[in-house]
Amino acid sequence: MIHIPTLMLALLSGFAMLGIQLWMARRSRLRYLDLGVWTWGSWILLLGFSMLASRVFLPTWISALAGNGLIALGIVVYCEGIYRHVLGRSMPRWWWWCGPGAAWLLTAWMLTWPLYLRTAAISLVFASLLLPGIAVLLSVGWRSEYSLRSVGITLVMAAASLVLRAVHAWRHPEDYQNLMQSSLGQGLTFLFSFICLIGAGFGFVLANFERVARRMEDMASIDALTGCLNRGTADALLRHELERGRREFQPVALVLLDLDHFKVINDTHGHSAGDTALQYFVTEVRQRLRASDVMGRWGGEEFVLVLPGTDTVGATRLVEQIREGVAALQIRHDGGEPFGLTVSAGIAVAQPVQQLGAEQLFTRADQALYVAKGEGRNRVHVYQEGMTSRAHPQDPATA
Ligand code: GH3
Ligand code: MG
Ligand code: MG
Repeated sequence: MIHIPTLMLALLSGFAMLGIQLWMARRSRLRYLDLGVWTWGSWILLLGFSMLASRVFLPTWISALAGNGLIALGIVVYCEGIYRHVLGRSMPRWWWWCGPGAAWLLTAWMLTWPLYLRTAAISLVFASLLLPGIAVLLSVGWRSEYSLRSVGITLVMAAASLVLRAVHAWRHPEDYQNLMQSSLGQGLTFLFSFICLIGAGFGFVLANFERVARRMEDMASIDALTGCLNRGTADALLRHELERGRREFQPVALVLLDLDHFKVINDTHGHSAGDTALQYFVTEVRQRLRASDVMGRWGGEEFVLVLPGTDTVGATRLVEQIREGVAALQIRHDGGEPFGLTVSAGIAVAQPVQQLGAEQLFTRADQALYVAKGEGRNRVHVYQEGMTSRAHPQDPATA
């Protein structure tokens, strides 16, 4: 038979260890994570279960009122942690009062009832307090970090075990004569509480780390202003696509896009309006791309598109549409006068038989862009054999 005081001790040590470790972690760089709320939940549950256990030397009414109230609050705090992590906002305020309040009032009302009835009722209350957290984890949370799924599954098991406990207490009053009674029902309850503490605690911590890892990955590969891939990642993908194009005998188009007279836009409307223009531009281009196309910010107001499986005709058609779309944009920034924008583009296509390297393809697209700029800007040019190297016409450095 399961020895309840031992299990209770394991449970209390578990909450204490989790609380201490999360608290230590929060003193470091990890303070920006959502672990703080979970730390509080662990402390409150530690206190709640300690109060339940304290009926060995304290009057039962104090132990039950404080214990059940704190455990209910601890569950609500865990749910708050889940809300903040998954939805980025707090739980409704009324739930904070209603959940623990209901547990506390019910306990006060039932003080004179036999333990098995109190156990059945409070177990159902605890199970229902888990529901908001479970609902969030099984809906939005399921599509978030993978580790959150284990938290969701653990909490579903916790709620189910509490309901089973309620039914068991109702059907087997003899198992619930006092809290430390080493019966099967009591044993399974505390065992499950321990498993939930470990399962949900670890899952939540891992989900936080998953999120940090993803943010770091994004920061290393994505341009913060426009959300495009940065130069390094776009370059790596271009090489990858060229390799794949050769293997699958498919052309790969590379497009260089350079905003026209962007310096003038900055000078006329301000640098911040220029930033907004870059964001408008990227949104406009992106909505015309396929999922397999790659858009990267090569630097400043220059962007690249890598279009796998696209020949000269397809690339020209797409980039012409982009050019027209960009020219039709009306950029609004901070209530100022709306202003327009144009883009010039150079296209070079690597045919599978050509064995072109990324550098060669890039030089070709750059030469085509030079021609587009020279012909008056706001136009698209495709690389043709025999083009020469260049610097932008009318660039201040070369004009
Ligand atoms: P061209 O038609 O020949 O391309 O002329 P241009 O003015 O666009 O080209 P130039 O290379 O002379 O100037 C590019 C400008 O883009 C200068 C720089 O301040 C601006 N720029 C680069 N990055 C950013 C950015 O992140 N935000 C803003 N607002 N401006 C940027
Ligand atoms: Mg430019
Ligand atoms: Mg430029």
